[in-house]
Amino acid sequence: MTTDIKKIREEFPILNSRIGDRPLVYFDNTATSQTPQEVVESIAHLYEHTKANVHRGVHTLSQEATDLQEHTRRRVCEYINASGIEEIIFTRGTTEAINLVAASYGGAFFRDGDEVILTVMEHHANIVPWQLLQARHNIRLRVVDIDDEGNLDIEQYKSLFNERTVFASFCHISNVLGTVNPVKEMIAFAHSKGVPVLVDGAQASPHLKIDVRDLDADFYAFSSHKMYGPTGVGVLYGRRELLEKMPPWQGGGEMIKHVSFEKTTFADLPFKFEAGTPDFIDIAAFAKALDFIEKTGLDNIRAHEEDLLEYCTAEMMKIPGMRIFGTAPGKAAVISFLVGDIHPYDLGLLLDKMGIAVRTGHHCAQPLMDRFGIPGTVRASFAVYNTREEVDTFITALKRVISMF
Ligand code: PLP
Repeated sequence: MTTDIKKIREEFPILNSRIGDRPLVYFDNTATSQTPQEVVESIAHLYEHTKANVHRGVHTLSQEATDLQEHTRRRVCEYINASGIEEIIFTRGTTEAINLVAASYGGAFFRDGDEVILTVMEHHANIVPWQLLQARHNIRLRVVDIDDEGNLDIEQYKSLFNERTVFASFCHISNVLGTVNPVKEMIAFAHSKGVPVLVDGAQASPHLKIDVRDLDADFYAFSSHKMYGPTGVGVLYGRRELLEKMPPWQGGGEMIKHVSFEKTTFADLPFKFEAGTPDFIDIAAFAKALDFIEKTGLDNIRAHEEDLLEYCTAEMMKIPGMRIFGTAPGKAAVISFLVGDIHPYDLGLLLDKMGIAVRTGHHCAQPLMDRFGIPGTVRASFAVYNTREEVDTFITALKRVISMF
């Protein structure tokens, strides 16, 4: 495996960066992962050779650009095992995908008094869009709690369903705790009550095989930039029957069949939900990121990340005063922690001086921080290109920083 990782690292020139006089150790992969050279080069190539607006022209370049964008749609469709390309909507990211569903589905179908089930471990991207809806409809958010290890309280989840429940929306993997939620079982339960489900897959899609038909998800949202891909691209998978009955959420070019001042008709799926010029260059390049993941193998990626997680956790637990938030069995490669009463920002700043990139703060999960009664954590998270040697560097740096307090 070591030689493979060495080879993989060669595909990511940014990993050779230095922070001051230290080599970069990039442990902020949950926020965004790095992008292999092949993807970066494909973006430059597209700007040099194929930049023309999609779906608008009869000219050759426009058709080539359209073909490349639609190739990615087919790749994504296969990648997540959707039943057709009309179920794949390009967005700017997970956040926009969830906003789309809340605004369109929620805006059209929720009524005053309806209830939406979320969990306490949600990213703000899966909380605030539902709260924004409350300006239109007096809906109530019901929140599933966790235990101290970070496991969802599944019995409580089930008990929250009642005749007013109209929707459930939860993450597949927590960006703070690393907990992998039993989403298939949760979806099956919601469906047994006739309730549709959105899964926030922002943290699962870089690590797990996603099969939307096996999960039986109604909506599944994820972001390219966390999957070794370009920024500015996300995907909303939606079950065709639901997407068909949902109204458009943004109006503009591309999403119409015919416009007049008297009456406008809308384009078929998926274009009904893609108003305006999409980020067609990055969408085209996203296919290369999927190639990278498939070539590397999700099983290899997961196994390598698990090895780093286990090794790093064991080393961290030897440090006096160490508290790790999120210890659920089978968790993903994310370690959120605090040491004694040292403020996470101080730890993060000093680690940066030693070349280590970790994230500090509330990680866009303030309700979860409140649940633990803490202002924030330091978070180290791994990707396929990280190494045990980097973990050693991190642990040495961490001990040094702690000794300064
Ligand atoms: N959901 C989860 C679980 C996340 O971790 C993130 C980003 O960190 C998001 C949603 C939002 O993703 P994006 O900023 O790419 O829209």
